[in-house]
Amino acid sequence: MKIRKLIVFLGLLPLCALAQQKQAVEVFPLSEVRLLDSPFRTAMMTDMDYILALDMDRLLAPYLKEAGLQPKAENYGNWENTGLDGHIGGHYLSALAKMYAATGDQRMKDRMDYMLSELKRAQDANGDGYLSGVPGGKAIWKEISEGKIDAGSFSLNKKWVPLYNIHKIYAGLYDAYAFAGSEQAKEMLIGLTDWAIHLVQNLSDEQIQEMLRSEHGGLNEIFADVAAITGDEKYLKLAKQFSHRAILDPLIKHEDQLTGMHANTQIPKVIGFKRVAEVDGDQSWADAARYFWENVVDKRSVSIGGNSVREHFHPVDDFSSMIESEQGPETCNTYNMLKLTKHLFLSDPQVKYMDYYERAMYNHILSTEEPDHGGFVYFTPMRPGHYRVYSQPQTSFWCCVGSGLENHTKYGELIYAHSGEDVYVNLFIPSSLDWQEKGLELTQETKFPDAETSTLTINPKKKSEFTLYVRYPKWVEAGALNVTVNGEQVAVDGAPGEYVALRRHWKKGDKVELTLPMRTTVEQLPDGESYYSILHGPIVLAAKTDTTDLVGLYADDSRGGHIAAGPKYPLNEMPVVIGSADQLPAMMKPVDGKPMTFRLNGLSDEKTLELIPFFRVHESRYIVYFKVVSKAELKAMEEKMAADEAVQKALDEATVDLVFPGEQQPESDHFIQSENTNSGVNQGKHWRDATGWFSYQLNDKAGDAGKLRIMYFGLDNGRNFSIRINGEKLADVSLDGSKGLEFFTVDYNIPQEILDKADGKLRVKFEAAPGSVAGGIYEVRLMKK
Ligand SMILES: [Zn+2]
Repeated sequence: MKIRKLIVFLGLLPLCALAQQKQAVEVFPLSEVRLLDSPFRTAMMTDMDYILALDMDRLLAPYLKEAGLQPKAENYGNWENTGLDGHIGGHYLSALAKMYAATGDQRMKDRMDYMLSELKRAQDANGDGYLSGVPGGKAIWKEISEGKIDAGSFSLNKKWVPLYNIHKIYAGLYDAYAFAGSEQAKEMLIGLTDWAIHLVQNLSDEQIQEMLRSEHGGLNEIFADVAAITGDEKYLKLAKQFSHRAILDPLIKHEDQLTGMHANTQIPKVIGFKRVAEVDGDQSWADAARYFWENVVDKRSVSIGGNSVREHFHPVDDFSSMIESEQGPETCNTYNMLKLTKHLFLSDPQVKYMDYYERAMYNHILSTEEPDHGGFVYFTPMRPGHYRVYSQPQTSFWCCVGSGLENHTKYGELIYAHSGEDVYVNLFIPSSLDWQEKGLELTQETKFPDAETSTLTINPKKKSEFTLYVRYPKWVEAGALNVTVNGEQVAVDGAPGEYVALRRHWKKGDKVELTLPMRTTVEQLPDGESYYSILHGPIVLAAKTDTTDLVGLYADDSRGGHIAAGPKYPLNEMPVVIGSADQLPAMMKPVDGKPMTFRLNGLSDEKTLELIPFFRVHESRYIVYFKVVSKAELKAMEEKMAADEAVQKALDEATVDLVFPGEQQPESDHFIQSENTNSGVNQGKHWRDATGWFSYQLNDKAGDAGKLRIMYFGLDNGRNFSIRINGEKLADVSLDGSKGLEFFTVDYNIPQEILDKADGKLRVKFEAAPGSVAGGIYEVRLMKK
């Protein structure tokens, strides 16, 4: 049976009893669009190999175990057996459903069916609709249902983001239904949603909001989806109950409170606000989502379309951490920004949404999969001269592997869209559309971005009148877009940032030729610093610098394996462009015979660099943002950068291990334990404190450690606590607020007896004195002797 007949699509369910808002534009089912030969198709097929390399029984083990059944294999390791057990299984189900829709490959369907049958066994064994791999989950859900809620940003009742984890299986079941037509998945999804209703039925709204302090993915989105599928108001009520007011309310008022927040915790919540608005029509929620999107895209994103440093939104007027950190934009964030963009576009089909979508898809998403060996990227550093790390199927089970499995299955989702019988051409990607309902076939052939033309061949079953809306991207100059129909020039009625409407009686074999002249432009770092990214059309260009010291290029199963931990090359040794930003495009010379390849002259040290699309840069150090200075500024700048660099380098070299308290990944990578603790942000720095205690496990594999350096804030007052290492007291600390409005550090020597017994593992514990508070702690740095 052809799957397209079974497809029901996002928000387009005719039997829905709710006052579902009609979308202005609708997507085509993924199964009606096929990718033709292009980097996107290559990425999709490489992803399929990765999918096939994973052992389903190992992904299913957490679900069976938690249901009291005998698993057929052991859990995978890494994040799959240290707290987020089962999260990849949910993503995997989503990826199989989407890959099946996108390719029709029967192996994907067979795998999906096997996953569903095993998950069904687990759900049936649980007996109450529950289905999850959260280790020891049943006990904490019981506590929560009784109102015993202990929520931190990255924990809930001492577990690592269980709501985030369970959202993945909700989404997997939904996708198996929506993309691959599985009625079984739909029933399982509804059962699991009914379980969530029972979970919170005795909780007040305040208690639910308290619980939502803990990261929870897009649970509100999925509950709104279930409301749309079933037409039952109770699920819409649940979606609203699971909408985090601390994020929603400021967005409704157009207040930007995002600085310091964990980015990928917030984006899915906002998709949910938008999805609730689609189902119930509350425009203030839709407007909140649009405001968030504009804020993130216009003020918080770099040229590749990604956002965040060390997973958090940094201040909009200070991107220095973006340039310095090895932990630049996270792939999951852009996965979710694309999803939000899709929802906004469908209700308000503006070119600006597709301009961002195209930008982020080519330059971030496509770039995050190694096209030959496979492997997904977590962080994409913008630090000049740094590099990225790739996952491996048997070792790496991070969030960005989960979203990565899905990313490369769905490039076909928005190439086209339709409104009634009119068709939108949004993206210039080789593909074919087979619109069953209207009997229209459309093929797009292009080598874009290596060529500036695209040819659309239109094959309606019978001659029919409709409008073809062709996107006039912002990156094409006014008046430069050229359109012919069957070889005849047509007047382009439209400007960059609009759709060009071609209305006529289309007949079999009609050809539309588009010419999209690309030009080289520069884009400054949003904080106004003199760092510039160079683009040709919508494509971000980058220079490969070298391939030395790519430590951990393919990640092992260690907790920090996703971070490119090799040496950071000094920023002051990176090539600098001498001149001004306006001159930069003219300094770029196309290289003969090599499409999308340029030579950049005019660099410091008389260097020349070759620039290519960033999505083609792999297994290498690179530069995306180039420092641009005038000749007069050069010397002073180099001296200052060298001095800053020397200080940082000395600190890095003296550091054995490091935790940033209050930041999710560093904390979970160092196996945080805690009781009665809190975290937050002060002047862009994260902190943690506790009326109880918290601790981290620091690593000293080589036995180099000698002291502990702790960062405090000068105004913290009346805080008495102890620091212990492996149970032994290291110091009593008393903070009295006397240091004023600045951060300061204190070094504590670690006694040799403790180090001798430590075996490379030092658990550092901050414990409040009775009635007092331990912390705030801003940095825990284990240093050499
Ligand atoms: Zn991620």
